[in-house]
Amino acid sequence: MGKLSGKVALITGASKGIGEGIACVYAREGADLILCARSESTKTLCEELMHAYGIRAQFVRCDVSRMEDCREAVRLGMEQFGRIDVLVSNAGVCRLGSFLDASEEDRDHHIDVNIKGTWNIAQAVLPVMVEAHSGRIVIMSSVTGYMVADPGEAAYALSKAALIGLTKALAREFAKDGICVNAICPGYVDTPMAQSIAVQSNAEDPASVTQGIAAATPLGRLATPEEVGELAAFLGSEEARYITGTQVVIDGGSTLPETISVGS
Ligand code: NAP
Repeated sequence: MGKLSGKVALITGASKGIGEGIACVYAREGADLILCARSESTKTLCEELMHAYGIRAQFVRCDVSRMEDCREAVRLGMEQFGRIDVLVSNAGVCRLGSFLDASEEDRDHHIDVNIKGTWNIAQAVLPVMVEAHSGRIVIMSSVTGYMVADPGEAAYALSKAALIGLTKALAREFAKDGICVNAICPGYVDTPMAQSIAVQSNAEDPASVTQGIAAATPLGRLATPEEVGELAAFLGSEEARYITGTQVVIDGGSTLPETISVGS
């Protein structure tokens, strides 16, 4: 029996990257899945996971910045499975850009997907969990904004730090309903987003950016999406029943160094 056997999980941003990694670990741990994203390719992932792990999985096309899409995802998920035990709000975007050159569209894109997207899907799912008097919400924040930032990350950092506040407020408001809400704060994870950031930082030599990140990380590499999935599975499981309103960093120690010179 997996640690999520008998559970139904709705995961946003499941088409690739961390969301795909979370979906794989959740399926391995026995959860039935409602996988939300905009890309139709997510259907193939559903089929692969059903075949590999004998679970049930349904793709729902959902742009999380649209409240009506989020409500429809929950409606379809409930129609198919009759319950939603875990929400993983993972969908997110990141575009680098200097603060002085940033357009309103750049800023609002991060706010719409990263902040409003999590707000929307949580507001759509929570009535189901309140009714069940049980539930787990896992929100994908970042070390960026909450702990650290690099040049060009103002909009992204703003949006990811906001999710820590939302995590705490929801944890406080829904504790009485038996619902635990926690955030995950990854450092760099090897995904299409991280590759895109490398290209945006140095289009001529993106590999040097990724190598630089790995070299600056005490564990010497980026995380895999599945490693973040393992943490998300723990936070979605019964084992995490007394954890709420907190944020868990998974960064290979990248935020650890106090200096780059002492003791080295
Ligand atoms: P990614 O490879 O770019 O994947 C992003 C996912 O979000 C895709 O599944 C994408 O699916 C979905 N998405 C984007 N816009 C969406 C929208 N409007 N509605 C619904 N889904 C949408 O990114 P990732 O690296 O896996 O990142 C996943 C999450 O982890 C993000 O919240 C990110 O901020 C966070 N994070 C990532 C890192 C990292 O180093 N990679 C570090 C810290 C935190 P579709 O395009 O199919 O919709």
